[in-house]
Amino acid sequence: MAPSSGLAVGSPPHPGTAFVQTTSRPAAARPIRVPLPRVWPVRASDVVALLVANGALIVAMWIRHGGASALTSPGAILTAAGQVTALVGTYLALIQLILMSRSPWLDQVFGMDRLAWAHRWLGFGTVWLLAGHVVFTTIGWSMADGRSLLDETTTLLGTYPFVLMAAASMACFAAVAVTSVRAARRRLSYETWYGIHLYAYLGIALAFAHQLVVGSDFINDPVARIYWTSLLVIAVAMVLVFRFGQPIRITLRHRPRIGSVVTEAPGVISVYVTGRALDRLAARSGQYFNLRLLTRDDWWRAHPFSLSAAPNGRSLRFTIKELGDWTARLQALKPGTRVALEGPYGTLTGARRTRQRVLLVAGGIGITPLRALLESLPGRPGDLTLIYRASRESDLVFRDELDALAAHRGATVHYLVGRRGTRAMPRDPLDADGLRALVPDVRNRDVYLCGPTPLMESVRASLKALAVPASQVHLERFAY
Ligand SMILES: Cc1cc2nc3c(=O)[nH]c(=O)nc-3n(C[C@H](O)[C@H](O)[C@H](O)COP(=O)(O)OP(=O)(O)OC[C@H]3O[C@@H](n4cnc5c(N)ncnc54)[C@H](O)[C@@H]3O)c2cc1C
Repeated sequence: MAPSSGLAVGSPPHPGTAFVQTTSRPAAARPIRVPLPRVWPVRASDVVALLVANGALIVAMWIRHGGASALTSPGAILTAAGQVTALVGTYLALIQLILMSRSPWLDQVFGMDRLAWAHRWLGFGTVWLLAGHVVFTTIGWSMADGRSLLDETTTLLGTYPFVLMAAASMACFAAVAVTSVRAARRRLSYETWYGIHLYAYLGIALAFAHQLVVGSDFINDPVARIYWTSLLVIAVAMVLVFRFGQPIRITLRHRPRIGSVVTEAPGVISVYVTGRALDRLAARSGQYFNLRLLTRDDWWRAHPFSLSAAPNGRSLRFTIKELGDWTARLQALKPGTRVALEGPYGTLTGARRTRQRVLLVAGGIGITPLRALLESLPGRPGDLTLIYRASRESDLVFRDELDALAAHRGATVHYLVGRRGTRAMPRDPLDADGLRALVPDVRNRDVYLCGPTPLMESVRASLKALAVPASQVHLERFAY
């Protein structure tokens, strides 16, 4: 493959567009070559097999402790079911911690998209299993004790402090699950939803303490206790290292701060982050960072943004559209503001590429990672094609930069502007026929896709209809 282009960020604004520069655009710099990430000899299926084997070991330990030997009455069967659901549910909760630890290694093996998907469905699985534990155990014990369900419940809650602890844990998990159901999630701000999500940590701590103290599997077996405690230590260590340790290390080492802010279009700014030895971050086009402003009001929340230009060692550029309260406040961001960076994350990079030819499909602000890829993906003239979809002309950003990059790299750019279902655009220009007409050799290309969810779903359906193998389709979601 041919070496990457050297065209740099910073073309003049599009003629006739009212662009305002808050501060001057930094001097142009060449993209740097970032070493390919180390390829781990582990596949996603290996990790899944390890997790399943661990789950089987947990059930095997329960059998060894005699859990399956005394199933002589309906009450005993229900109590046994309660034990198994508790063990597997707690194990899934620990896996959840690991999945969302933001380990760059897991990110590369699975991709954040698949991790988030697994997190969502395992999360619901965890809550159902733990709820099953409560129901099965309470009914099982009430049958064994010959008491009414109500009597049994009040006795358990009133007599055993660690059962009360488990009830509090269950309440934490239930709150997280209920607010994650799509209908509820849509009504909550991201911050409220995320804040409630933090109760899952408390839920896990309480569930674990309950299990170690009253779990029949642990009381008499030091090996089981050591095994479970080791699992917890590994999960917590991953969260501490990757969620806290790494960002603190990056921030202290690279001292990132806002270098300049440039208005690209109404409600869209580019933020240039400068710092020490940024080339050592090994960030690649297509990746993103979680950005946290180190100010009195904002230090507690981080938001993800993709690099909108290939990293050049001097600055990282993020282009941000005003969508909610935080991004609205960003529009008044002052150069010099200290920031913390978490990342780089994401797998929408050249490392995923399987074909010589590439199609990039962007919708709206989803252009950011694809703009960086257009700049730096190696390719001969004719190898790279970008389709940029927007409802209105004013929603297109980087038009001049994209045109300049296309001219420099011998790439093709198609701008598809307009609303579907109007006289000018009666049908979806990215349905299978439209896509084939624009890019006849699409089956022989890798497709990088980023944009609003409806656009991504419709393009994925078109690619499926055109028999583009799923292994050639790479995407980044901006919202879950
Ligand atoms: C991997 C990734 C890369 C992104 N890259 C860009 C980019 O290059 N340019 C750009 O303009 N936008 C990007 N976004 C979207 C951007 O993060 C949100 O628009 C922004 O966080 C909205 O914050 P808000 O408080 O202003 O709006 P809100 O109204 O609070 O949020 C709007 C929506 O943004 C999402 N969101 C909000 N906060 C977060 C968060 N902390 N973490 C994850 N999602 C959140 C939620 O889906 C929420 O419903 C990206 C998102 C992701 C996940």
